[in-house]
Amino acid sequence: MSQIIDGKLLSQNLKEEMRDSMPSLKERYGRVPCLAVIIVGDNPASRSYVRGKIKAAAFVGMDSRLVELPETVSERELLEVIDSLNGDCAVDGILVQLPLPAHISEDRIIDAIDIRKDVDGFHPQNVANLWLSRPCTVPCTPKGIMAMIESTGVPIPGKKAVIVGRSNIVGKPVAKLLLDRNATVTIAHSRTADLAQVCREADILVAAVGRAEMISGDMVKAGAIVIDVGINRIALPDGSSRLVGDVDFESASKVAGYITPVPGGVGPMTITMLMANTIECFLRFSGAC
Ligand code: NDP
Repeated sequence: MSQIIDGKLLSQNLKEEMRDSMPSLKERYGRVPCLAVIIVGDNPASRSYVRGKIKAAAFVGMDSRLVELPETVSERELLEVIDSLNGDCAVDGILVQLPLPAHISEDRIIDAIDIRKDVDGFHPQNVANLWLSRPCTVPCTPKGIMAMIESTGVPIPGKKAVIVGRSNIVGKPVAKLLLDRNATVTIAHSRTADLAQVCREADILVAAVGRAEMISGDMVKAGAIVIDVGINRIALPDGSSRLVGDVDFESASKVAGYITPVPGGVGPMTITMLMANTIECFLRFSGAC
């Protein structure tokens, strides 16, 4: 039976450390870090993520600003809001909750965020810096995944890592971070031939697909570290629903050495890393304002 990598506990410990550091930040810099979160429209999932982010900021004792805009807001108006937050010396991080309505270009919005306040690490310059191994803001989910892998104490160098999924926000950056730690990295995707065999070779298996329980125990190498990024809501016969990951926890946990649960795995770590990134931006750039 595997050991559970408890994302909830890890993130709670990290948030408490951050909370403990706030008084000294306030004393040294005269204020605490501030995260601005922009939400457009009423998407329930987005609203719930945003609530979690604001709650986490309050827990660690940093300031936050919630900017709520209607679904009908124009791209120009949203750009003006970003511009004003870019110029606001009391704001260290700007996060625009995605997805945005179809009439707004996500690329143009991300490009408009001052790279020094890009706490999501999605700005193209941040992405370039990550791939060039220059100082950068590491995207929150990949950063949380690395912290979870590191929490096992298993050395990463020389390990075979397989990442299933090649998105810009999870799969690709995780691959780069594992490469930086000297893992031998394979990125699998929807066209990968014999995915099960590719996965079975992984000492570290990261599933970021968005397909409920598609990675079964027979696709997992004995003793592997399994990180389940997926968040999928499945309907139950009684009409209710529940969240499951991309990994079939029941069968995979019998084979893996370490495994993350869903919920309570990567999700809480993502939010915690957003707090960490806001503090990092505050420390790196607030003096430049
Ligand atoms: P995307 O939809 O952007 O990417 C999914 C990837 O999975 C694609 O690369 C796709 O391949 C690949 N894929 C799809 N079907 C298969 C298949 N049958 N076999 C192999 N690969 C396949 O997803 P994201 O990376 O944004 O998110 C992935 C999951 O992680 C989602 O469930 C999302 O909700 C969750 N998530 C969770 C976060 C958290 O904080 N816990 C944060 C971000 C995401 P191809 O490129 O060929 O189409």
